[in-house]
Order: sequence, then C-alpha cells, then structure tokens
Amino acid sequence: MAIITLGSMAFDAIETPFGKIDKIVGGSATYVAYAASHLTQPIQQISIVGNDFPEEEINELKKRGVQFEGLEIVSDKKSFFWSGKYHLDMNTRDTLITDLNVLADFVPKVPEEYQGSEFLMLGNLMPSLQMSVINQLRTRPKLIVLDTMNFWMESALGDLKKVLGMIDVLMINDSEARELSGEFSLVKAAKKILEMGPEFLIIKKGEHGALLFYDSHVFFAPALPLEDVFDPTGAGDTFAGGFIGHLDHTKNISFENMKTAIIVGSAMASFCVEKFGPQRLKEITKKEIDNRLREFVQLVNFDIDLV
Ligand code: AMP
Repeated sequence: MAIITLGSMAFDAIETPFGKIDKIVGGSATYVAYAASHLTQPIQQISIVGNDFPEEEINELKKRGVQFEGLEIVSDKKSFFWSGKYHLDMNTRDTLITDLNVLADFVPKVPEEYQGSEFLMLGNLMPSLQMSVINQLRTRPKLIVLDTMNFWMESALGDLKKVLGMIDVLMINDSEARELSGEFSLVKAAKKILEMGPEFLIIKKGEHGALLFYDSHVFFAPALPLEDVFDPTGAGDTFAGGFIGHLDHTKNISFENMKTAIIVGSAMASFCVEKFGPQRLKEITKKEIDNRLREFVQLVNFDIDLV
C-alpha cells in the first residue's frame, strides 16, 4: 500500500533574517515526500518539472522509496519558481515571486501503477487539479488529506468548496481558517468548516502548534520550542508528510491515532526549519526522530491531581 502525493516540485529563493539563498530545491510534494518516506514507503508522486530540475534530487528521492511514474518532465520549459521573504518573527512571510512556468499547463495524470493506493495527500495546488486526481482514482482511498491556502480561497472558492466535499482531512493555517469561515473564533470557524465536508480539520498555528478538530472534539499539539528557527519554508508540507506517513505506517485512521500523527507531523516540521530547504530532512536518522518524539512527550506530559 502507498501514499499518493500531488503537489509542486520547484526551485525556491528564500530570505530569512538569518540568511539568503537564491536557488534551492523546494515544492510542496518534495517536502511531503522527504518527510513521509522516513515513516513509510512507497510514496507515489504526481507532479511536474521542467528541463532544469536536478536528476540527483529525483535519484535521492527514489532511494527513499519515492516513485515517479506520475512525474511529467517538460523538456522545453522551466520548473515552478517561488521566492519568499520572512519577517523578523519568522511566522509571517511575503511572497516575492511566483513563476508558474510548467505549473501553468499542468494536467495531473494518475498512472495505472498508483491505482488502489489507500492514502492520498493533495498538496497545495489549484483546487480543480486536486479534484481531478480524486476523480481519476477508481477506488476511493481510505483517507484523503488536502492542503490549501488563502490564494485559492480568493481566486477559486467555488472549486475549493466542491473539493472540500470530497475529502476527509483539511489542513490550513489559522488565518486561512478565519478567512474560509468568516469567523474569528477558531472553534466557531472549525464548526463551519466541518460542515463544508471534511470530517477532520487541522488548523496549523506555526510556532504555536496545531489543533485537530473532529465532531465536537478538539486536540492540541504544541510545536517544539526551538532555540534557532533558520528557515520555515516547507514546514507545513513537512507536517503533512509526517502526519499522513504515520497514518499509512500504522494503517489506523481513528481520531486517537490522528492525535499521534499530528505529534509526528510537528516533530518532522521541527527538523525542517533547522536548515534551508529540505536539507535537514535528508540528514535525519530514525534515532533522531525517536529522540525528538520523546522530547514532545516530555513537553506535554503532565499528570495532575484535580483540585
Ligand atoms: P510551506 O512553507 O509549507 O507553505 O511550503 C512552501 C513550498 O510551497 C515552497 O517550497 C514552494 O515552492 C511551494 N509553493 C509556494 N507557493 C505555491 C503555489 N502557489 N503552488 C504550489 N506550490 C507552492
């Protein structure tokens, strides 16, 4: 069994208060794949790149159990390029450049080899493309997770609402939850969003952790307080990869297991921010992941007597 991932594979230029890099591999599907492959394999990628995307990166991912039958390589165009600059608090950023390049004409095709996969991770892309992947699958996956952003709420709300009715888990950040629902209270926002279709809602709050809503239940996972946050790019996608990777590894999609999955997602994201791009995700070992999960347990484990 496997996870299908739809998303961008890209070049990024990033500026943070601690440094600047003009060209580094990025993209939502790249981060999801690096994170999830530490927990489960194979990962079945659906994406598009131009003639400039490094073959070594594809080979590195292949070594980690990432499959590329669903990758389209366009020989006469460039890969998607995104550039962002972080503010001092590192929680907010400005997008400086979005060059769609190959993404402009992307028509995702699900290869025959991917049919029957149990998990589907729809990374942040045009909602109509996310929907087209769901529609191409002959058997509905056991769990469909979708990531999106404010840009699509403003430019493709109709399609976004349609795809929300087809998925199980929605992942967005707090300002996006407020925008989508028109509610300031995240509890009220969650109620409204759950009525739009998804059974589960994850609201990411950057360095303040993440909330998981299901029915009338809510669970909170903190982010690990880190001494140095170097580059938050890809943290959201890495969180998603850790989350769905754990669920596929354990084959258990209960609310209880999703609580563990968001801790795993937070742990993976805490590595991602330590270096530029996906670099840190390439280096980490199973032992480091286990140790970091233990740190999370220590962080939130309290046993008090009721007064
Ligand atoms: P995150 O920091 O988790 O929001 O993800 C950052 C990654 O998303 C970067 O590596 C970008 O290449 C990619 N990205 C940024 N904007 C878009 C977009 N409009 N569509 C697809 N991918 C994007």
